[in-house]
Amino acid sequence: MTAPPGPGTGTPPLAGAAGGPAALRPLLDTVLDALRTGAEERGGPLPAGGPDPLTARVRAALGDVLPPKGTGDHEALRTLVHTLAAGAADPADPLCAAHLHCPPLAVAVAADLAASALNPSLDSWDQAPAASAIEALVTRTLAAEFYDTPHADALVTTGGTEANQIALLLARERHGPHLTVLHGANAHHSIPRAAWLLGLPPATALPTPTGTLDPADLARALAATPGPVLVTATAGTTDAGLIDPLHRIADLCDHHRADLHIDAAYGGLLALTPRHRHKVAGLARAASLTIDLHKLGWQPVPAGLLAVPDTALLAPLAHQADYLNAPDDTDAGLPDLLGRSLRTTRRPDALKIAATLRSLGRDGLTRLIDHTCALAQQLADRIDTHPHLTLHAHPTLTTVPFRPTHADDTQVATLRRTLLHQGQAVLGRTHADGRLWLKATLLNPHTTAADLDILIAHLEGSTHP
Ligand SMILES: *Cc1c(COP(=O)(O)O)cnc(C)c1O
Repeated sequence: MTAPPGPGTGTPPLAGAAGGPAALRPLLDTVLDALRTGAEERGGPLPAGGPDPLTARVRAALGDVLPPKGTGDHEALRTLVHTLAAGAADPADPLCAAHLHCPPLAVAVAADLAASALNPSLDSWDQAPAASAIEALVTRTLAAEFYDTPHADALVTTGGTEANQIALLLARERHGPHLTVLHGANAHHSIPRAAWLLGLPPATALPTPTGTLDPADLARALAATPGPVLVTATAGTTDAGLIDPLHRIADLCDHHRADLHIDAAYGGLLALTPRHRHKVAGLARAASLTIDLHKLGWQPVPAGLLAVPDTALLAPLAHQADYLNAPDDTDAGLPDLLGRSLRTTRRPDALKIAATLRSLGRDGLTRLIDHTCALAQQLADRIDTHPHLTLHAHPTLTTVPFRPTHADDTQVATLRRTLLHQGQAVLGRTHADGRLWLKATLLNPHTTAADLDILIAHLEGSTHP
């Protein structure tokens, strides 16, 4: 008799069940070692040399991506993780400060490992019993930080883009397909893109020469727009970290019976800190709020939220699929999760957020935000007093736009690429006042004064060779 075909001793171990932790532990040692060796090889915020040599190194290290015979778990992890780390732009390096690309907290990453190991999927209760309960608690708790209403709620999204899409979708469902979306030119590009995606009339961008939405311009636009309107304001612009005048915008929306969505992807969590919350006063007047915890929340991607003042506002997302939320299952008390997202299979991103909130507490999270804002002020002060650098404006959040005083735009753009190419620093770029500026987006709470000195020294070295 021949043995039935089936898994033998060579079957790779699973991450979950009783044997999971024992199988994972030695693999994690390999992963952690490779993270270290990769970072050592890189030796800075990003690999030097630019895209071509980096791509060549990755190709050489990987060789055959699907080899005829496998190399085994340890070799595969060592090679891939080392290659990834050696070629990373690591936001935990203080000189990697271009984008709203945060260095994740170790506690959040450790929690995310458990999420991956158990792989709960939040499209039905029978795939995520505890994960769905954790998500419900986290979303209600966070929504209550923004809305002082009895049934405040939030959806977990993949980020600000998805949150903005759902915000516009909910507004379309409230007002119909002829909804006009009015936004500042300072708004995130995902707002007009969501209008396009949803088949709405093209969104109208109001010029924002000062960086924020001007209430007088908005008043004129509202008066001139027939039919239903959704205004989207921004609390923390992606380019400059500026906050639109939220109360005045909300007053105008009230007056013109327009709906208000506030994209607070970057600045929303300032609501948690007594020192800075006045800057985002008025958030609670929006029908929906976009919040990103993978910015000033130090979560690994993805960690977005769409918050609403009342869970009833989410009703248009209700959806039924017999294999996931059969009406008799729902009647019998199984939570119906399908209306909590437009996605079906969905990671339990609330777990890492919950672990972070519990570990740090309100106090710890507040200190992290306050300290990061203070670091940005420090950098701005240094640039402002530097003889060869010009500060565009002191930061409202943690974005510091500046330029070498005597450089033209081409030189500014070249300087940014030179720093990238040499592997010295990752800085962003932004246009303001008709000129190109460099920008440092500080999100690393471990950055020190000495790190800021090094950054400035690199700039000096590149502007005065
Ligand atoms: C980052 C950002 C977004 C997009 O968020 P993702 O998480 O990248 O999808 C939207 N709006 C603003 C204001 C942002 O800063």
